[in-house]
Amino acid sequence: MEEGALSCLLRSRTMLEQDIKASYLMDHMISDGVLTGDEEEMISKQPTRRDQAVALLELLLRKDNRAYISFYNALVRESYGDLANLLHNNLPLISPEAHKSFSDGGTPYVQTVLSQGGVPQRPVVFVSRPKLVNQVREKLYRLQKEPGWVTVFGMAGSGKSVLAAEAVRDHALIEECFPGGVHWLSIGQLDKPDLLVKIQSLCFRLEQSQDPQSVHRPPSSLDEAKERMRFLMLRRYPRCLLILDDIWDNTVLKTFDIQCRILVTTRDRSLTDSVSGAKYEVAVESGLDEDKALEILALYVNSKPQKLPDDARSIVRECKGSPLVVSLIGALLREFPSRWSYYLRQLQQKQFKRIRKSSSYDYDALDQAMAASIQVLAENHRELYKDLTVLEKDVKVPAKVLSVLWDLEPEEVEDILQEFVNKSLLFRDCHHRPYLYYLHDLQLDFLAEQNRSQIEQHYKDSPPTSGDEECLYWIRFLTYHMAKANLSQELYALMFSLDWVRTKAQIMGPGHLINDYVEHGAILDKEVSRHQFQEFLSLNGHQLEQRPFPDVVQLALSQPHNSEVYRQALLQAQDRASKG
Ligand code: ADP
Repeated sequence: MEEGALSCLLRSRTMLEQDIKASYLMDHMISDGVLTGDEEEMISKQPTRRDQAVALLELLLRKDNRAYISFYNALVRESYGDLANLLHNNLPLISPEAHKSFSDGGTPYVQTVLSQGGVPQRPVVFVSRPKLVNQVREKLYRLQKEPGWVTVFGMAGSGKSVLAAEAVRDHALIEECFPGGVHWLSIGQLDKPDLLVKIQSLCFRLEQSQDPQSVHRPPSSLDEAKERMRFLMLRRYPRCLLILDDIWDNTVLKTFDIQCRILVTTRDRSLTDSVSGAKYEVAVESGLDEDKALEILALYVNSKPQKLPDDARSIVRECKGSPLVVSLIGALLREFPSRWSYYLRQLQQKQFKRIRKSSSYDYDALDQAMAASIQVLAENHRELYKDLTVLEKDVKVPAKVLSVLWDLEPEEVEDILQEFVNKSLLFRDCHHRPYLYYLHDLQLDFLAEQNRSQIEQHYKDSPPTSGDEECLYWIRFLTYHMAKANLSQELYALMFSLDWVRTKAQIMGPGHLINDYVEHGAILDKEVSRHQFQEFLSLNGHQLEQRPFPDVVQLALSQPHNSEVYRQALLQAQDRASKG
């Protein structure tokens, strides 16, 4: 192996050993002919995942350039995009193919800017849509000299977010138009408290990256948040681009009406009517061209579009070319490459009857693809997948949260999540360490609808207690049910408890908690504590979004001394001290 590649492997070794699952990668390496069956067996015999990873790297270090390239490609295919990036700059030059296969066109400068701004990476299986990307870039260039809005609109799952991220993956564009950086904010359907928390986080991120020592009080209302952003954009980050992903309503947009440069993705074309400034738009057609959709399927099954069976075209037609649905089916076919006609029949027969009754989406195909993907999961994994219903729209969680929820060892959880990711049932954000996981909002809707009836049954059978920690549904809806059942005393006890705040914030995020206080305000208002808790959350919401999760007692101790929040924190702190 050439020197540069070898040294890169040695430098990245610890990171690789920490994360990779050798068995996934070895299949690819064997089919590339760089690993023998005996070698695979020797590695598989190692007792733990880590030992196997160590053994694979040990072996790889003794192999040639082709092995390095094959290993790199395997990482890309198995969704270890960020690890592959570590190896990318040192790909040996013997194979021009290797360079072509590098999936992320950007220069190191582009990569740094985008990763600092939280712009998502390309999906592992990715096809270019040059015409659309150029349209978006062309509109973004119009923002070079003056602030304004670019709206990318189209149906759910049509690839708007992928497109938006792709459009900014361009050195010249960033350098010439957005030298202040590109900042990504996932919005989704949210209410005012959630929005406030999002903006608090954004301000925190922007302030911290300019001055890590800075301690600003987070804005405590939307008006204040708007002013804070206006200041940041004007004074600290002039000529930056904000990307607001998946906006549903214009109250959200009005908060960002601060004379800066914004790219919005949305299903609602008329959203920007209510804001001021220059406006441009790009329509994303709901389906991919047949050729592009076939290319996705071909990439999944590691073949060429011309070589796919006839059923492939029919599948694309049934999916209406939706990138999301095609990807789901593609991921299924990767695992069961002989099931073309089977999945086609399933799609055609609408065998999985439509589940969502009132829905803003018109995707029977999505329901069917989701149902099919879930069906091939092992029974116990299927149950675990359904639990993901409790994830919030656009909230990303680390594996550790799921390990608490499922009560499983972290390693086991990682394996399960990897399986979900491979099947496109779950998405992974590799910008963060540890990785964060999230669902597409159509997938969440699907799950929520599926689970609803089950949940109602469960509630009838066994009304909840607050100790029902592993039962995620209750963490989310407990307050709602208590309020509905007029259990005011229980509601007070729950919502004015620091322990509950900690549990719910950790699992669901602070936005939900704040929302609870607002929503049940009429009942809670009989107690002064409501405002004390609500204030605590508005001031610390952005902290509670951070992972690792902060020490809530510490945060609470900085509340006014007459606050109930402070009182409970003090008790807990004293209790800790007495236990040493
Ligand atoms: P939207 O924002 O319109 O709801 P996304 O951009 O999130 O849709 O895309 C949904 C899914 O479709 C992605 O997670 C990915 O699996 C697939 N997808 C979208 N665009 C592409 C593309 N250009 N190449 C391959 N897959 C894509």
